[in-house]
Amino acid sequence: MEKEQKKRKKTCPHCGRNLWLRDFWKLKSGERYRLCIECGRKEKNEAYARNRKVPDGTFYHKSFGRIMEHNGCSTRIFWNKDMLDILKTHYPNTKNEEVAEMCGVSPRTMIRKARELGLQKDKDFVQGVWEENRKLMHLTNKVRRNSGMIQKGHVPWNKGLKIKETI
Ligand SMILES: [Zn+2]
Repeated sequence: MEKEQKKRKKTCPHCGRNLWLRDFWKLKSGERYRLCIECGRKEKNEAYARNRKVPDGTFYHKSFGRIMEHNGCSTRIFWNKDMLDILKTHYPNTKNEEVAEMCGVSPRTMIRKARELGLQKDKDFVQGVWEENRKLMHLTNKVRRNSGMIQKGHVPWNKGLKIKETI
């Protein structure tokens, strides 16, 4: 009886459980796989993830239509020299959306890269943007107070401001 049970059971070397043979994959040879089904699946998934990963370096991402960079465990957009030059030159004194557009990436990607490189916005530029926003707020309030009526000869409140939405 005990012998019979031993035959029908097998210990998985991975999880150490003593399981029924039906919990192990049956191989073509009639033998059972060395790991239980649960551990076997994990092993397969891990092997798949390992092989799927591109070794460190760059590769062309078909659906993104651009060169990507793979390092360690993450895949990111690859920044070529031109893109980096644009970023370094324009980041300090250009609006984020504009720099991102120049580099051909999303603002989020651009900001992350700028932080990675330790780039900082120019103090005067930040002050200028702040000033512009303040003026814009002030003028917007003024227009609201005037119920949107703009008198003839009055300087449009959006004059000189590069904001498309206001045109
Ligand atoms: Zn197992």
